[in-house]
Amino acid sequence: MLNVEAIPALKDNYIWAIVRGEHCVVVDPGEAAPILSWLAQRKLHLSAILITHHHGDHVGGVPALLRHGRVPVYGPANEAIACVSHPLSDGMQLELPAIGATFEIFEVPGHTLGHIAYYGEGLLFCGDTLFACGCGRLFEGSPAQMHASLQRLAALPGETLVYCTHEYTLDNIAFALSVDPDNAQLHERAALEQAKRAQGLPTLPSTIALEQATNPFLRCHAPALRQAAEAYAQRPLHAEIEILGVVRDMKNHF
Ligand code: ZN
Ligand code: FE
Repeated sequence: MLNVEAIPALKDNYIWAIVRGEHCVVVDPGEAAPILSWLAQRKLHLSAILITHHHGDHVGGVPALLRHGRVPVYGPANEAIACVSHPLSDGMQLELPAIGATFEIFEVPGHTLGHIAYYGEGLLFCGDTLFACGCGRLFEGSPAQMHASLQRLAALPGETLVYCTHEYTLDNIAFALSVDPDNAQLHERAALEQAKRAQGLPTLPSTIALEQATNPFLRCHAPALRQAAEAYAQRPLHAEIEILGVVRDMKNHF
């Protein structure tokens, strides 16, 4: 069985460790020290590193990890990341025999232009694209790109487990409630996630079904989101992409 565990790192990052037997693969190692002590404690071997995009909090730990042992480093072909040994692009199948897993590569531009996500075995590692109840900031891409990327992820099976990189969930929910105040499932989720954080537990993974029901960036078709975005923009908005752009802007200033 595949097991996915969270290694907390930096301020609010999770480095996801995908484990089978004594082998493990880590996703977005922003720093090395917590991984190295976790591997030693658990007596596990690192077999590969997966990278979603070029930001320092996702790649910063790679050089130090490689000093402890050469392993393949997979990452986006469309971003210049010095440590990536195996560039990946859309539609490729990544086989990881050490953990007996295969992932399909999705290019999901928006947060950065070359950002990729890894999907397989019922798991989605989506970096800073789809967050629990939110999405990544548009540092490089356009609202249209983020919209297309999010819609592609939202089309995955509802039970898919969503592993994003940051514990932003409670802040995201506070914002979501301000733009989607009558969403009963969102209120329910707020209580559940607050209880998890009060116990010091991660709110992740989420599921695609839960995100579809509660994530404002997947709900730009809903009347509540259109109303909130139009009130903020003070003009009528016609396309879902426009609504997403305005809602992203509202979140930046929330
Ligand atoms: Zn990022
Ligand atoms: Fe990040």
